[in-house]
Amino acid sequence: MLETFGETLDPEDWQGFRLQSHRMLDDILDYTEKLRNRPVWQTIPPEVRGVFQQPVPKSAGDLAAAHAIFMQDVLPYAIGNAHPGFMGWVHGAGTPVGMMAEMLAAGLNANVGGREQIPVEVERQLLRWVRELFAFPDTASGLFVTGTSMANFISVVVARTALLGVAVRETGLPSDHGLVVYASASAHVSIAQALDMAGLGTAALRKVAQDENYRMDVKALDAAIEQDRAAGLKPFMIVATAGTVDVGAIDPLNDIADIAKRRSLWLHVDGAYGALGMLSADIAALLKGIERADSIAFDFHKWGQVPYDAGFVLVKDGELHRSAFVSPAAYLQRGMRGMAAGSPWPCDFGPDLSRSFKALKTWFTLMVYGTEKLGRVISNTCALAQHLKQRIEATPMLELLAPVALNIVCFCYRGSDQINADIVVALQESGIAAPSTTTIKGRLAIRAAIVNHRTQLCDIDALIDAVLDFGGRLGKMDERNE
Ligand SMILES: *Cc1c(COP(=O)(O)O)cnc(C)c1O
Repeated sequence: MLETFGETLDPEDWQGFRLQSHRMLDDILDYTEKLRNRPVWQTIPPEVRGVFQQPVPKSAGDLAAAHAIFMQDVLPYAIGNAHPGFMGWVHGAGTPVGMMAEMLAAGLNANVGGREQIPVEVERQLLRWVRELFAFPDTASGLFVTGTSMANFISVVVARTALLGVAVRETGLPSDHGLVVYASASAHVSIAQALDMAGLGTAALRKVAQDENYRMDVKALDAAIEQDRAAGLKPFMIVATAGTVDVGAIDPLNDIADIAKRRSLWLHVDGAYGALGMLSADIAALLKGIERADSIAFDFHKWGQVPYDAGFVLVKDGELHRSAFVSPAAYLQRGMRGMAAGSPWPCDFGPDLSRSFKALKTWFTLMVYGTEKLGRVISNTCALAQHLKQRIEATPMLELLAPVALNIVCFCYRGSDQINADIVVALQESGIAAPSTTTIKGRLAIRAAIVNHRTQLCDIDALIDAVLDFGGRLGKMDERNE
């Protein structure tokens, strides 16, 4: 027996712990295998919420008891994005392979901020694969981050440093900086937030008009830049979106890249979910021009199906990227040998020092599924969206509200905005299907974002049937109230 000085947190009975652990693994695999039989989402009963409003435990508890609470009170009341009927917002489903990789990463407990270790090398392998996917040069840098919100923020900081030089890191921005950034009217809110956090202020954002397909109007973009220059302002960055969050539109990347080049502006692509469309030949064709970006932000946790969270930022000029973030400190001293070797480190490319091993679940996902299968899964979500579109067009009580470029379908039941809002809540509470809502040209839309690799034709048909069913019932109630 090992003589211990005080306590450790390891089990006293490893054999018992092992048995309980295997039970936990089986339970979550059972859950995943039989997910389809469950409701997508359920209203949270007050007593379940109460389970998580208890005082912090002072004395030791039991793993099996904590697991029982998880099974009873956590698992059934998640948002349900793993479920095939989930179509709300743009959420990935995760995979059993990703889940196992997360377990291994947690066991290893690597801190991937830097230093001489293979987990950093795994992340570099992912960077090399990502460079290849987007036809970026070997000098491009990249980093796993929580999500595209953070990747957009990092890109703004790098673009600002490119324009003003590293001195801006010391001096900060003057209040009359006059810097201007352009994005389409339906750019994600994280762009404005990035400008806020980077000290430019949200007023630096110009929202450019869109064409009838909800793509950025390049003529309007060029005119806005011209006008701002004439007014003495300093346009410096264009953010193109590859897959808008509301309707899945892809801005005309090549045309925007032409303008960015002609006017010497930084081109950033917010490809949060759409950029991984590169894995599918037909969608890659729609993304032509993405290789001309100075930076790209995207998520492996959306169309890539890697479990949350796994965002990524790719910057064409790796040295510039590093110069925008590298921060010397005595305790982060680099060496040629030993554990302090292997510079530059991931922490030199972003604000995080302690970092989880997000690269591992992404590496497992690519190793086990391969790019072809992942690409087919992505194409499939678009084919399902086309099926949904056709069903809407063939159903007189339904109306399509926006073109379907990729995997997002916006439609409504013929009736008031209120009926449509009520239909969506009724659908969510029924557990049959879970779309969300958005506003299209001032009208409330039922929005089905099909991102989940588990979603099948029957799930699309169940959505349509349930919309018609609830719409019919709510419509009758409406008439009675009039
Ligand atoms: C999801 C999304 C974001 C935000 O990404 P997170 O991973 O949630 O931070 C940004 N832009 C677009 C277009 C998105 O779809």
